[in-house]
Amino acid sequence: MAEETKTFKDLTREVIEKGICGKCGGCVSFCSAGELNALEMGKNEVPRYVNEDNCLKCKICYLICPQTDTLNLELQEKFGWKLPIGEFLSLASAQTTNKEVEKICTDGGVVTSLLLYLLERNLINGAIVSRKIGRFARESMVARTSEELIDASGSTFSGSLQLEELGGKYSTYTPILSTVKSLAKGYLHDIAVVGTPCQINSIRKMQCLGIIPAHLIKYTIGLFCIENFSFDDVAREMLEKKLDINLEKIVKLNMKDDFIISLTRGVTIHVPLEEVHEVARPACFTCKDFSNEYADISVGGLASPNGYTTTLIRTKLGASVYNGALRNGYIKERAFENSVEERMAKKKMLAKIISFARMKRMRAEERLS
Ligand SMILES: Cc1cc2nc3c(=O)[nH]c(=O)nc-3n(C[C@H](O)[C@H](O)[C@H](O)COP(=O)(O)OP(=O)(O)OC[C@H]3O[C@@H](n4cnc5c(N)ncnc54)[C@H](O)[C@@H]3O)c2cc1C
Ligand code: SF4
Ligand code: SF4
Ligand code: SF4
Repeated sequence: MAEETKTFKDLTREVIEKGICGKCGGCVSFCSAGELNALEMGKNEVPRYVNEDNCLKCKICYLICPQTDTLNLELQEKFGWKLPIGEFLSLASAQTTNKEVEKICTDGGVVTSLLLYLLERNLINGAIVSRKIGRFARESMVARTSEELIDASGSTFSGSLQLEELGGKYSTYTPILSTVKSLAKGYLHDIAVVGTPCQINSIRKMQCLGIIPAHLIKYTIGLFCIENFSFDDVAREMLEKKLDINLEKIVKLNMKDDFIISLTRGVTIHVPLEEVHEVARPACFTCKDFSNEYADISVGGLASPNGYTTTLIRTKLGASVYNGALRNGYIKERAFENSVEERMAKKKMLAKIISFARMKRMRAEERLS
């Protein structure tokens, strides 16, 4: 079928019925700028027609879905994409200089510190981040103040948080695209967004198509992502038995070479990713992007020592943010004895990122073949 005629019916056939919908909500949120409401999130957060007669066959839902390929060539050209991890200008291990961020951040606190720099220097009006509402639940929000940015940082939980996840549903994935859509109603401009590779891919596609309000997004900070988790009470029980832990005792979650669970009383356990695959979201196994190939800056914990964020600066815009934050003392880089040591360490870091990127791409290609 010609691309010009693709509609939600094609999305249903090619993505939803194949079980590879990531439930990002992009298609529903952006179903026509004129509030036609042809789509809704149905049962189990799977999109469906709510009023097919309203469908203008504009094909936006199809084009912006991270699971379709139509706009990928355009993105690849625009960003000078190449295998194995996309284009990048430089690579660093860095960390925050902010003591408050240091206490609660996921890795080195670079994400929060870059956002603090942008906000406090009036380079952005706000940032779309994801704030904790439980151990396995976050919600997307526009942070407008430094306090809100810090509050959304990290993946640590205070001891008083119970497993209050929404109606027995636990998910490490936060749909942020409805928050992007909500920007159209406000007066905000120059926004930064933190998101997973699928979310940044969708935003870049919207920007390619000139869809309002994607033009308000000025900076994209992309998280590395091997997979996200989603499970219910039954799976929770299974997981607790299998890992021999009480999920209520979790104080921090992280992912690097493996899944890292920090428990109360300073106990940390490393769980091989294969052990938790059964609670990962099915769409993640068909996703090819580990290192967030279209972000301005991509970040992860992988390949850096504890307390540092691995930072891939990809675009000139990303470089201006990173260098500005560095120059103004918001972040500092890992120190090396000499340039030879630095070169060797960065070579190793890159090799590690590439190995994860290749592994994820192969996994997806196998699943899709
Ligand atoms: C779901 C998920 C999977 C990840 N997988 C990997 C991985 O496989 N390998 C790896 O090396 N790194 C992975 N990361 C990235 C890593 O965990 C850190 O977020 C990253 O290194 C930045 O650390 P930081 O200390 O600089 O960030 P911080 O300063 O702590 O800031 C973290 C930022 O991420 C935002 N955030 C948190 N959760 C989400 C979410 N679910 N969706 C959107 N934004 C969110 C927060 O709002 C905050 O702005 C993943 C992150 C997430 C959220
Ligand atoms: S109106 Fe456009 S975005 Fe909405 S369902 Fe139809 S084709 Fe998709
Ligand atoms: S992955 Fe997102 S955009 Fe694609 S069909 Fe699912 S909810 Fe819609
Ligand atoms: S692996 Fe990460 S980027 Fe890919 S679909 Fe899952 S959440 Fe999105």
